[in-house]
Formats: sequence, structure tokens, C-alpha cells
Amino acid sequence: MKLSDQVYMVGSGKFGLQLSHSMDCNVYLVDGGHDQYALIDAGGGMDPEQIIQNIEQEGVRPDQIKYLLLTHAHGDHAAGSAFFSNQYGIEVIASKEIQPWVESGDQEKSSLAPAKKAGIYPEDFQFPRCKVSKGVVENDTIHLGNMELKVLETPGHSQGHISFLLEQNGKKMLFSGDALFAGGKIVLQNIWDCSIQDYARTLSKLGLLRIDTLFPGHGVCLMKEAWKHVDIACGYFERLEVPPNL
Ligand SMILES: [Zn+2]
Repeated sequence: MKLSDQVYMVGSGKFGLQLSHSMDCNVYLVDGGHDQYALIDAGGGMDPEQIIQNIEQEGVRPDQIKYLLLTHAHGDHAAGSAFFSNQYGIEVIASKEIQPWVESGDQEKSSLAPAKKAGIYPEDFQFPRCKVSKGVVENDTIHLGNMELKVLETPGHSQGHISFLLEQNGKKMLFSGDALFAGGKIVLQNIWDCSIQDYARTLSKLGLLRIDTLFPGHGVCLMKEAWKHVDIACGYFERLEVPPNL
């Protein structure tokens, strides 16, 4: 589904448009120009062929996809990585912090083991280990065609969480993973690396950017005035409260 000149939604699960398997996060395809594309997040890997079908329906061939950029290591975002890497040779880029967890399919660091125990994921859900070509940190730049995506560290929902900022024609677009959702919502979970205080710092950092467009990891996208939704979340934290969960 085409969302803008450069961005398509090619996967989404039960909190979104359900374009692919219900365990998938929103998966975006970014057109960098010069025949170079990138995927933002991989989905859960339960039915990645559906994502490939959605990509091909947009007239894009999987061999035109250069990178898979991961926002964080949770199963619904990262467990599908090995499929795209192994089947199509797509290079995986993730934060330096989660790189070893993705490369070992670490079920504890990625909180997949407790999430399975809690019944959030089915028992047969797998996180196949996947080689990460490049580990990135704050302010690193990813070159895609004639486009540059800037890496922002955005922990809180989980450690090693990053977002990708794209600035074009004076507009700021943010691929936020699970750092922020429409309506100023967030996702706090009882897992080892979720931190309210990190979340608050992340939101105040995002507040300074005055972003126009938000492409979140779940739910609806905001095509303009996304900064208003960042401000809603910041308002809760400033009152020492926490924003509602998605
Ligand atoms: Zn998550």
C-alpha cells in the first residue's frame, strides 16, 4: 500500500491493517531512488512470503531491496530477519546493542521467552539467528539511493531501540518502531529492559525534532502534524504520569 512518494506499507498485523500475518509489526518499504529500496523491520517471520507478495504487488522486486533496518529486537519486528537475509541476500542493519541478540536469536534479551510464556506469541514462534551486516549508533547515517536515513537512539520500550529519521523537502519523517504511536500512545511492558525514565527522555528528544510524519511500528500512520502526538506523550511524562499503552 503506497503511503507517500517514497514509502509503502508492505506488512502489518493485528494492531494495524492486517496486510500480512497477525504477529507482524508494520513493515515499511522505502524507495531511496537509483533502484535501491530498504525494509524497515521484518515482521515476525510466521508468513514472510505474504510480505514478499505485497512488495511485488507494488512493482518492486525483492532483489532491489538493499537493506533491512531493524528498530529493535522484539520478535514481531526482528524474528523475520533471517528469511529476508537468507532468501534474498538483504543486508540487515541494527543497533550495535541488539546486534549480538539478533545474531544469536537470543530469546531472553529479545524477551521472546517470557512473551511466549505469557501467551503473547504462539509456542511454535521461532527467532532464527541472523547475521547483522552493520551495527549502528546515534547519528549514524544510512545511505540508500539518493536518500539518507539518520539513526536516533530511542530506548524506553526496550534497550537498543532505534528510530530512523528521513528529512526531505523540509519535512521530517520518523520511523519510530515502538517508541511512539498515534495519539501519543506508547507500549510499556513488564520485561527486563523496559524503562519509564528512558521512555520519557526519548519522547522529550523526539519532541525537539518537530516531526511532520510518523510511521510507527503498529497502528495508523500520521502523514502530517505528527509533532502534536509527540507533545501529547510528553505532556503525560511532564506531569509524572505515563502515556496510555497502545
Ligand atoms: Zn516491541
